Amino acid sequence: MTVKVDVSEISIVVYCTDCASWGELAFDVAEGHRIAVDHEGRLHPNSRVAYTNQYKWQKRRNAA
Ligand SMILES: [Zn+2]
Repeated sequence: MTVKVDVSEISIVVYCTDCASWGELAFDVAEGHRIAVDHEGRLHPNSRVAYTNQYKWQKRRNAA
């Protein structure tokens, strides 16, 4: 299972490889990660992929 935050120039789309019918638009990357972690926590409580991605992204952002 992977929840992905897909950032392009015009939009940020959050989607899940296990939930083909699910997808949400985010206004910024931080919100995208929040949506991903929320989805993962509710539908894939044994997964830490989105959580780990959010953590790595926050570390990268803090380092910049
Ligand atoms: Zn899912």
